[in-house]
This record gives sequence, structure tokens and C-alpha cells, in this order.
Amino acid sequence: MMTQRLLITGGAGFIGSNLVRLMLGLGHQVRNLDKLTYAGNLESLADCRTNPNYSFRQIDIADGVQVQSAIDEFAPTAVLHLAAESHVDRSIDSPDAFIQTNVLGTFQLLNASLRYWRRCSPSDRDSFRFLHISTDEVYGSLGEHGRFQETTRYDPHSPYSASKAASDHLVRAWYHTYGLPILLTNCSNNYGPYQFPEKLIPVIILKAIRAEPIPLYGKGQNVRDWLYVLDHCLALSCVLTRGVPGETYNIGGNTERTNRDIVQLVCSQLDKLRPRPDGKAYQEQIVYVEDRPGHDFRYAIDATKIQTELNWQPETSIEVGITSTIQWYLDHPSWWQAILNGSYRLDRLGTSISSRPILAQSLHANEED
Ligand code: NAD
Repeated sequence: MMTQRLLITGGAGFIGSNLVRLMLGLGHQVRNLDKLTYAGNLESLADCRTNPNYSFRQIDIADGVQVQSAIDEFAPTAVLHLAAESHVDRSIDSPDAFIQTNVLGTFQLLNASLRYWRRCSPSDRDSFRFLHISTDEVYGSLGEHGRFQETTRYDPHSPYSASKAASDHLVRAWYHTYGLPILLTNCSNNYGPYQFPEKLIPVIILKAIRAEPIPLYGKGQNVRDWLYVLDHCLALSCVLTRGVPGETYNIGGNTERTNRDIVQLVCSQLDKLRPRPDGKAYQEQIVYVEDRPGHDFRYAIDATKIQTELNWQPETSIEVGITSTIQWYLDHPSWWQAILNGSYRLDRLGTSISSRPILAQSLHANEED
């Protein structure tokens, strides 16, 4: 792969920090644009700070003027857009920031990228890519059968997924209307190092080792497809280099599990990696709590297109990925302890509208994306 100048938005977040590290490792130059919301953490990039190919600008992507000057100054060969408000539960409590960043922020980034792209030389225009990183949640909820394909009709159910769906539509419109060479990916649930402790797997690990109740939404029967974050980042690298402009690629782990399966797997691995002082099983800490409103029952990704057309497939099994994720949290207490001392204390979110009617999908458990 030729050396690229990659402008990555949201590089201080979970997937973003893993992607920045991968891209630097591949020899690319990376500029990270991040507002540093509660979810952004420069400590996640502590080992990248001194890399001469890495630079950072603290910028809100919804600020069109700042975004334009950041793009013009860096002159990227590609923009990889990950900056977003990403937690479903927070979108239930306060949707405003989701519209502001996910919809308006994406609009500003597209606009600025288009202006920059139009000024590029013909050969730079040909090779430029705008890679938009999205989620499988835009497709809505599945029953017991079927999988999301790239052609599945959009049917988002939460303010988060609706704002991501809106951003996906904008990105496609900039391709069809203005010719901006976009690529779009819709990925299933990620897990791995540096994930903010509000998401399901870090919640389980941290609640377990802090001897607190481990909450499971509803009956724990909701199904998600799980992908190790490094596999996602490798897929993004693959789409960036081999993807066809204008195309969408679903990315998934072929690993459907109920939330209860995930909690049990984490607990049983923890029993081996860090046995409880009293010798009991971590599973004894699991408690079932009231479900999330409108909780989608099942997501499953059909990743045939990226596998057959771009020759990508996940390499890390859920057992190996979960074990290495647990080990990472056990080895990095200062990373998560600083968060728990500051912006987030493992409290439940997304309960501010508990008086609203229960929706039709009754089998509803934590999230994830
Ligand atoms: P995250 O919440 O961990 O990180 C988001 C980052 O974006 C943070 O660093 C935050 O500071 C930054 N940010 C937020 N608002 C910003 C703004 N206005 N301007 C600049 N920066 C801003 O999210 P994540 O889990 O790493 O997800 C990254 C992307 O991948 C998101 O677009 C998300 O929708 C998508 N995605 C996530 C998953 C998943 O399982 N985590 C799955 C599929 C797709």
C-alpha cells in the first residue's frame, strides 16, 4: 500500500484509537481530529504521541470553518470519518448531541471535503476517498432468522441509529450529486481494548472485578454479532485500499451471541484469569434489570460482499478476543480508573423516559454500540 495522509475523525475514541495505531503501524501519516467529548481520551493514544507521523487537532466536526481549515492544512489523501456520539442509552436521554455531531457534523465534513477535493489535481481527485464508518443498527431489528445485507431497507429505531442512518444518506447523496468518492461501511458490535466503560463488555468486566452486581437488560436474550476491534480496523484498511467508490460494505464477525452468552463467557474467562477471592463464580453477580426502551431484538450481518469482493474476513474468535480484552482491562487499571474517577461511574443510562409505553418487541437486554 502507498503511504497515505489519513485524516481520521474521532481518533481518540474506541475504534478510532485502534485505527490510528494500525494506520501508523502501516506507515501512514495520520491527523486525528477529535472534539474530546466524554468518550474521547488522548490516553488511548499515549504510545502514538511521539510518532512523527501522528498529529492531533482538537476540533468539533460540526464547526464548518474549523473543519475546512483542518482539511486544507493537512491535505489528506483520504478522510476516515468515525467521530460520533455512539451510545444508544445516551441517545435516549439526550438526542440533541447525536443530531448535532452525527448529522450536522457529517454534513460539515462532507462539505469541507468536497471543497478540498474539487481543488485537488486530477490524479489526487481520482485517488481521494471519503470513508464513512457506520453501524448495522441503521437496518433495524431482525426476528429469529435472516441477516442484514447491503441492500436491506433502513429502519432505525433509536435516536442513535436514526442519526447514523441520516449521516449515511448524506454521504451517499454527496457521491450521487457531487461525485465525491465515498465508501461506506456498516459494522456490527465491536469489542476490545480502549472501549469506554459504558458499553456491555467493559461494564461486565469492571462490575465483576469491583464486586458489584453485573446488570443484564431484560431476559438477556437480545442477539448481537460481535467483532474484535482490530478485525474491524483491518476491514477498514481493506475497504480504503480496495473498495469501489460509491459502494457500501457490511462488516461482521459471523459471531451471533445473546447478551446472556456474552456475560457468561466473560464471567467464565474471568474465573480463570482473575478468580474471585472467595472462590465463587463471577456469574453469581449477574442481576436482571428492566429492559432498554425499544431494545432491538437481533442484529446479524451478512458480510459476504466484503469477503468475496475484497477478500477480508475476521481473524479473531470470540473466545480469543474476549480473553485478550479482559486481560487488557486487567493490565490497564489506570486507563479505566481515571474515567471512573471522572466522567462516568458505571451508572445506568437511558432511563430518563421509563414512563413511556413499552414497544412491541418484547424480548429485549445492555448495549453495545
Ligand atoms: P466512541 O464513542 O468510543 O468515540 C467517538 C469519538 O468521537 C470520541 O473520541 C469523541 O470525542 C469523538 N467525537 C464525538 N463528537 C465529536 C465532534 N462533534 N467532533 C469531533 N469529535 C467528536 O465511538 P466508537 O465506538 O469508537 O465508534 C466510532 C464510530 O464507529 C462511530 O461512528 C460509530 O457509530 C461507529 N460504529 C461503532 C461500533 C461499535 O460497536 N462501537 C460498531 C459499528 C459502528
